Amino acid sequence: MIRARSVDKYFGDLHVLKDINMDVPQGQVVVVLGPSGSGKSTLCRAINRLEPINSGEIAIDGKPLPAEGKALAALRADVGMVFQQFNLFAHKTILENVTLGPIKVRKVSQSEARETATALLERVGIANQADKYPAQLSGGQQQRAAIARALAMKPKVMLFDEPTSALDPEMVQEVLDTMTELADEGMTMLVVTHEMGFARRAAHRVVFMADGEIVEDSTPNEFFSAPKSERAKDFLGKIL
Ligand code: ATP
Ligand code: MG
Repeated sequence: MIRARSVDKYFGDLHVLKDINMDVPQGQVVVVLGPSGSGKSTLCRAINRLEPINSGEIAIDGKPLPAEGKALAALRADVGMVFQQFNLFAHKTILENVTLGPIKVRKVSQSEARETATALLERVGIANQADKYPAQLSGGQQQRAAIARALAMKPKVMLFDEPTSALDPEMVQEVLDTMTELADEGMTMLVVTHEMGFARRAAHRVVFMADGEIVEDSTPNEFFSAPKSERAKDFLGKIL
C-alpha cells in the first residue's frame, strides 16, 4: 500500500533520509522506532508529500506520488494523518471537525457526513462530545476526535506520528486502544511511536531508524528479543 524506494531527503546539507526502502503492505501495521532526529517524522511527511523528497520514489496503492495539483489532493485524501498535536479546528465543534473533509473533499451530503461522523465518534468512544469545541475535551478525547476525523475520509492508509506523546499518561491507553482496534480491523497503518506495548501487540513489522537510515526491519519478536545492530540495542537499552 505504501512503497518507498531509494528515497533521499536533504534539509540544506543535512541528509535526513538516506536511501530509504520500505513497504507497508495492505492490512499491515508497521511501527517506526528510532531516536530523536533520526528522520521518522520527515518520513511520515514525505509519504503524503508535506515534504518533497530529493530523489527516489514513493507510491501509494501502486500510484507514484504526484507533485502537485488535483492528483496530489486526491492522494492525500486517501492517506489519513494523525499528529502529536491534535490539529483540530478550534472554532468548529467536534462533529463539524469530522464532517468537514467528507463534505468538502469527498462531496458527501451533509446528512450522510453527519451520520458517518456520529458512527465514528461512537466507535472511538466520544459520541457524547460531538457538540463541544476541541478546547472543552481532554487531550485523549481530542486525539480520538482527530482519529475519527481522519477515518471519516475513508482513507486507504493511516499515518500516525507519535499520537500519544503529547498526552498525559492516563490518556495514553485510550488512544492506543482505539489504534489497536483499527489495526485489528485490518487498517493499513504506519505508526511512529515509543509505545513498545503497542508495537509488540499490533505491529506486523518494526522498522528501526537511526541517522536517517533504516537500520533494522524485522518482526516485533525479532526486534525486541534479538536486535541485530548495536544502535538498536543501545536504543532499546534506553527506553525499556
Ligand atoms: P523526534 O523523535 O524528535 O520526533 P524524528 O525522528 O521525527 O525526531 P525528524 O523530525 O524527522 O526526526 O528530523 C530529522 C532531522 O531533520 C533532524 O536533524 C531535524 O533537526 C531535521 N529537520 C526536521 N525538519 C526540518 C526542517 N524543516 N528544516 C531543517 N531541518 C529539519
Ligand atoms: Mg518526530
